[in-house]
Amino acid sequence: MELVKVPKERIGDVVYQMLRQSILDGTFRPGERLRVRQLAAKLDVSATPVKDAINRLAQEGLVSVNARSGTFVSQLSVDDLAEVLEVRCALESLAANTAAVRATTEDIQDLREIVAKMDQPIENDHDRISHEDINLSFHRRLVELSGNHKLIDLYNSLNVYITMARIHYSSHAWRGRLEQEARAHHLILYALERRDGPALVKVLRSHIEGAAHALVDDIRRNRVLV
Ligand SMILES: [Zn+2]
Repeated sequence: MELVKVPKERIGDVVYQMLRQSILDGTFRPGERLRVRQLAAKLDVSATPVKDAINRLAQEGLVSVNARSGTFVSQLSVDDLAEVLEVRCALESLAANTAAVRATTEDIQDLREIVAKMDQPIENDHDRISHEDINLSFHRRLVELSGNHKLIDLYNSLNVYITMARIHYSSHAWRGRLEQEARAHHLILYALERRDGPALVKVLRSHIEGAAHALVDDIRRNRVLV
């Protein structure tokens, strides 16, 4: 994303959102150094909102702040990512059990619309990033249907890592997996429509495990990460 001057209202939030988006869309690369003064000048704001934004991003795990060497965009190791994906799978399966019982007709209709959006063709990198966003929101909605707030918070705290990994590190192999992914999303929806908890958990688990293995394999093969 292009960094532009910030309007005077809501400066703190706007700076935070811009920097966050720049990390997620790859404008700032993993391991890249972020300099407060430089960013503040570019955004035409004082150092304070930039420092505040960096603190928020550090809490989310998107940047790491070192008192001596400075502030850097976080880097994930393959092992970190594999661990995150394993936990994500467990949390999502746990949520699915309750989701199948609690989901209303409207909830299911919302998910149906999200799945329809994901069925749209992907032409370029921009489409791909927005596809990833929609994909994450589909899974997030499923987890939210559990109504368990602790579970939802834990789940959300893992998602930034997954977004970063998918956007920065996955190779062209992802395209070949799109069809399989779409099939899984339709099966998830179908299980939910039938209120079939065990079937939902089963299809969700195999979908997430499959996607996780593929992503980790991609990264190992391309040796992008340490
Ligand atoms: Zn999915």
